[in-house]
Amino acid sequence: MSEKKSLETRAVHAGESRRNAYDSLTTPLALTSTYTFEDGDALGRHHRREVEREEYGRYGNPTVRAAERKVADLDGAEDAALFSSGMAAVTTALLAMLRSGHHVVLTRDCYRRTRQFVTGVLPRFGVESTVVEPGDPEAIERAIVPGKTRVVISESPTNPYLRVVDLEALRSIKAAFPSVKFIIDATFSTPVNQRPIEHGVDLVIHSATKYLGGHNDLLAGSVSGSAALVDAIRDFRGVMGGVLDPHAAYLLLRGMKTLGLRVARQNASALSLARALETDPRIERVFFPGLESHPDHRVAIAQMSGFGGVVSFLVKGDGPRTERFVDACRVAAIAPSLGGVETLIEQPALMSYYEMSPEERVAVGIPDNLVRLAVGIESSDDLLDDLAQALDVAFAGQ
Ligand SMILES: *Cc1c(COP(=O)(O)O)cnc(C)c1O
Repeated sequence: MSEKKSLETRAVHAGESRRNAYDSLTTPLALTSTYTFEDGDALGRHHRREVEREEYGRYGNPTVRAAERKVADLDGAEDAALFSSGMAAVTTALLAMLRSGHHVVLTRDCYRRTRQFVTGVLPRFGVESTVVEPGDPEAIERAIVPGKTRVVISESPTNPYLRVVDLEALRSIKAAFPSVKFIIDATFSTPVNQRPIEHGVDLVIHSATKYLGGHNDLLAGSVSGSAALVDAIRDFRGVMGGVLDPHAAYLLLRGMKTLGLRVARQNASALSLARALETDPRIERVFFPGLESHPDHRVAIAQMSGFGGVVSFLVKGDGPRTERFVDACRVAAIAPSLGGVETLIEQPALMSYYEMSPEERVAVGIPDNLVRLAVGIESSDDLLDDLAQALDVAFAGQ
């Protein structure tokens, strides 16, 4: 679909064909593990890449392919590959690009399993890493070891403090290190709010489980970038095997059609909730890039067209009071994840960081009174009322 069309239009139409089997309007769900060849000649034409067709389910599927074309179009990339989860996308892309002796720069505030993979698993294969602060482009530049660093990977905005990486600053660093590939996990921003490829980033990763799918009903991950890089990663996906199931690809295609509508709503609701929480005396601090109090507010204004649907904040008080507040929410459900139509709330200390002691959590920057709110598409008035009544419950008797 033409670049001139708006993202909302492309979310509906991009990647999908007007000429489908049975004249179906929607992209058919192709449930097959393999594909047939009429004869040896047809097989030869396929091997010589004279025809575009599939061979075997681990190498490709037409429903998955349509979803890949839609993701690539929205990211403004030449191509995209889909995976069985966001983590399959992260791990397959990194393993495809790294060899023993290479070095990775990772920003600290990030998805816990990505950090675990880079700092805990990659060293087993001789790949070392340096972890730096996301809001500090100079620290990223200093961490690059010429000749050894092959990948710089960061989220933007980050999880859970919504730090925004200055992508134009990254572009100038990249110019000085042409052999280093820059990867942005843009799960929290979606292509609606930020398109890192336009800032010269090499690869964009999404946990499509979140906003792209948008309905909390599937797991998927994507990698977008140049045709050559994505082709190499897709080839490696055939080795690792973390392909997306066609059922999930069908749901993802369907979910992405409403991405523009959903994210616009989530942006607006999250901003109004963040503002309301910031003025509530029972809240110690709010982390949201749309607030002037956020350290990356100016960067966010410059490179994002919306600030996303996740708001993190500290409740005044201890872990048990924060737990009472979270437990008292009636619209927001207690669950990990984000980006779907349902509003979800979690206290990271009791969710992803449960096994750590309070001291260890403070050391990794996760205090017990931290709450992450992932705003859905419900009415923001209802969400605000829900948070207010839950705060009343948590602070009763004060
Ligand atoms: C959820 C998430 C992932 C992992 O994605 P899965 O689909 O759960 O495997 C990676 N990065 C970020 C920023 C996420 O939020």
